Amino acid sequence: MGVFNHPEFDHHESIHHFEDPGSGLRAIIAIHSTALGPAAGGCRRWDYASDELALTDVLRLSRGMTYKNAVAGLPFGGGKAVILATDRAPKTRELFEAFGQAVDSLNGLYITAEDVGISVDDMRAVRSRTHFVSGLPQSGTNAGGDPSPWTALGVFHGIEAAVAARFGADSLRNITVAVQGVGHVGVYLCRLLHEAGAKLIVADVDKESLRAICEQVPAEVVAPRDILFSDAEVLAPCALGNVLNSETIPRIRARVVAGAANNQLASADDGARLSELGILYAPDYVINAGGVISVAHEYLGNSTEERVRSEVCRIPGRLRQIFADAESSGRPTNAIADELARSIVERGASRDEPKHPTEARRIA
Ligand code: NAD
Repeated sequence: MGVFNHPEFDHHESIHHFEDPGSGLRAIIAIHSTALGPAAGGCRRWDYASDELALTDVLRLSRGMTYKNAVAGLPFGGGKAVILATDRAPKTRELFEAFGQAVDSLNGLYITAEDVGISVDDMRAVRSRTHFVSGLPQSGTNAGGDPSPWTALGVFHGIEAAVAARFGADSLRNITVAVQGVGHVGVYLCRLLHEAGAKLIVADVDKESLRAICEQVPAEVVAPRDILFSDAEVLAPCALGNVLNSETIPRIRARVVAGAANNQLASADDGARLSELGILYAPDYVINAGGVISVAHEYLGNSTEERVRSEVCRIPGRLRQIFADAESSGRPTNAIADELARSIVERGASRDEPKHPTEARRIA
């Protein structure tokens, strides 16, 4: 399949392939849009079954970042990177240095940060080769560092908003939440949910992650194949994408789906499927924007944790508006969110503002 006729191509501005034989790096950086500023989005390291699947993933994630940054009101466009994990490309400092070199060669068109399979330490190695990176520890009360707690905070408040909209409940006390994936984000989310009095059902394919969460909060553990269909009010997908599809949706018992994972819907039609079944879906890129809000503030500088917290706390308000528009128009929440994101990008594209990263720093 060619790139231009790829089903997920969606007018990407550019797609860059990198290979570094020394470190084994093979990576793709996709730039979906720079209409609102330089393309910002994390880097994922994953063992893809084929190069084709890696390309599909990076294209979908990259477009999602355009929408996410737009709805979050950030002066950034959308891009994403994937590093193809193979036996020939072990997770070494050299691998991330080579990736940093690749990012640097784009001269600020793309700004990277952590995503699945990448740690803060990996980003430190990237930082040794490029300035176009965020998600690094900061000193004092400056904004920055691991984005996962901020993503979890936004998802937590988003779940509160969704539960209020769907059940009329003013708290999460005794609400059961099924969390799929207790990795970087899932673990913080479970803690917040527990503190708010919610009951937890969890699953993870990684036994160590499960053991760690069960030491911190009381939770019922179920098999990964069962978590989506748990007897819970809320399903919070916090693992990988495409979990909401024509096979899974009819079996979901939760009436709210609100989680951190990117690209939860296998296709836009799956948003309509959820809506027809009376399941309230919190569009993923709206509810999970906390992390990118933090890395954006870190990158732009002169920002504090308090500022990031107040921006992250605007996420539930955006969701409430989307839920209300969906209710009044009878349309699915994902369609409302996509329309909102596209209109913000189109307005940005028609504005005569500087888009280069160095200029973007000044916009802040
Ligand atoms: P992570 O890799 O730390 O955690 C994901 C967890 O899901 C892992 O523990 C993994 O073992 C588990 N998992 C994988 N497949 C599973 C399955 N089939 N069933 C159950 N568990 C499974 O990643 P993360 O940083 O916590 O991110 C989670 C999701 O949220 C991803 O989709 C990511 O793109 C998205 N996201 C993360 C951030 C962030 O700040 N880290 C921001 C926005 C979106």
